[in-house]
Amino acid sequence: MRQYLLHSLQDLQAHLSQTRQLYQVVDKGGESYWQSEVQAPFPPLSQQRPLSSAKSFFFAEQETLYVFDGQFFRETIYKPEPFVLFGVQSCDLMAIHYQDIFFEQDPYYQARRQQALLVGVDCVLPCQNGFCNLVDAGPGVRDSTADLILHPLEDDCWLLIVVTDSGNAALQGLVLTPATSRDKNLRWDNLTHCEQQFDDHSYIPEGIEKLNRGQVSDEFWQQVAIQCIACSGCTTLCPTCSCYGTQNQAVSQDDSDKLSTQARQVRFWDSCLYEGFQREASFHNPAEQAGERVKRFWYHKFSDDYLPEFGRYGCIGCGRCEQTCPGVIGVHSVMKRIVKDA
Ligand code: SF4
Ligand code: SF4
Repeated sequence: MRQYLLHSLQDLQAHLSQTRQLYQVVDKGGESYWQSEVQAPFPPLSQQRPLSSAKSFFFAEQETLYVFDGQFFRETIYKPEPFVLFGVQSCDLMAIHYQDIFFEQDPYYQARRQQALLVGVDCVLPCQNGFCNLVDAGPGVRDSTADLILHPLEDDCWLLIVVTDSGNAALQGLVLTPATSRDKNLRWDNLTHCEQQFDDHSYIPEGIEKLNRGQVSDEFWQQVAIQCIACSGCTTLCPTCSCYGTQNQAVSQDDSDKLSTQARQVRFWDSCLYEGFQREASFHNPAEQAGERVKRFWYHKFSDDYLPEFGRYGCIGCGRCEQTCPGVIGVHSVMKRIVKDA
């Protein structure tokens, strides 16, 4: 992999934004969030993990799958202009990689995904609630998940690592200085130092082991689920959650438009924590009890059963569920309870 020393992040942002819409996480009012179509003067890279991941760039929160005009059905695959997600942290890149597998055959997801250039950024400090180091998702960006990788060096300089052909092509025309061995070694030193700064989260692998040994009772999950108010905060913010529902909607006609739509099917984010998520047309519900739904969520994140399909667990260690759950059913709370009580 080619590696360069970048003296100005602005140069790279300006270069990439010539041919793509640039999206970046920015800090504002103590919060950090994805800002669309960032333009010069370009903001610095945020050091914080945004509350919302990059999931919705590819798996839209709501989108029309097809329309029916009274005569024909027509697919409505949305293909955005080429865009770059600039400065995606390693955990969220791993989540995109996970979703790429889940949505491999999904043309709606793929139409968006194929237009994206992913510029990852290594984390040099652990984030609050983060445990990417325990689930092979960080703090350094994994090569298989990004087109370009940035790593902060001294004096506002950056190490720029070219991972894919798309990343290489995107840099054409930008004058770059090859990185020295010292620059490259500094990256590994910084990442090692970062790994050493994580708090002791050993209850997480212990909890995963108990869960996979079948040592967590249904009664335990019922107790945990008493605190779930089915708000869907966890499934909305979890970057690997991919459950969706579809709905057919009638659309009022506009007489001036000969091809006016009469009906459409819409896909929207759903949540396995909702009582009706698995309810069938016969009203049979395989997950009628809240405990069954909570159990299902956590098995989807940590069961060994999914390793053959995804090559990893369905959790990338971001800690967003802990941050958002009003019922204290985030990953840290659940794993501590599994180790202690289950
Ligand atoms: S389960 Fe929680 S910690 Fe794991 S990826 Fe989802 S939100 Fe992040
Ligand atoms: S965030 Fe907590 S309360 Fe809300 S649905 Fe998820 S587990 Fe239930």
